[in-house]
Amino acid sequence: MDCIFCKIIAGDIPSAKVYEDDTMYAFRDINPEAPCHVLVIPKKHIASMDEINAENSGIVAKIYEKIPEIARLGGAENGYRVIANCGPDAGQTVFHLHFHILGGKTLPVHLCNE
Ligand code: 5GP
Ligand code: ZN
Repeated sequence: MDCIFCKIIAGDIPSAKVYEDDTMYAFRDINPEAPCHVLVIPKKHIASMDEINAENSGIVAKIYEKIPEIARLGGAENGYRVIANCGPDAGQTVFHLHFHILGGKTLPVHLCNE
């Protein structure tokens, strides 16, 4: 499958690992928008939030259970924001489900810039 995040999981594309277990892989965004900008992805290929269902939602639950630890490991010690872009209007560019963890500075208050 031609998916860059599957290639990152396989080690075919190098990445700066923050955390890994059997379910998920967390690594630093190549184009960081904050001092802590970590992407958490399931090892199983799920294309987007739209593909979450009763069979795979346990993976998402495990990711959310781990996010506080991953955020600390990534350098967010005073709070953080979790973002998942889904589809064209949200600007999703990589179609392998991923959660951005942003922190390490005071983030802009507004979630949407008009
Ligand atoms: P999206 O816009 O789909 O929510 O986020 C995709 C993110 O993946 C972007 O923030 C982009 O910088 C990051 N990204 C794309 N390709 C790579 C890569 O090869 N390595 C890493 N570490 N991040 C990547
Ligand atoms: Zn993938």
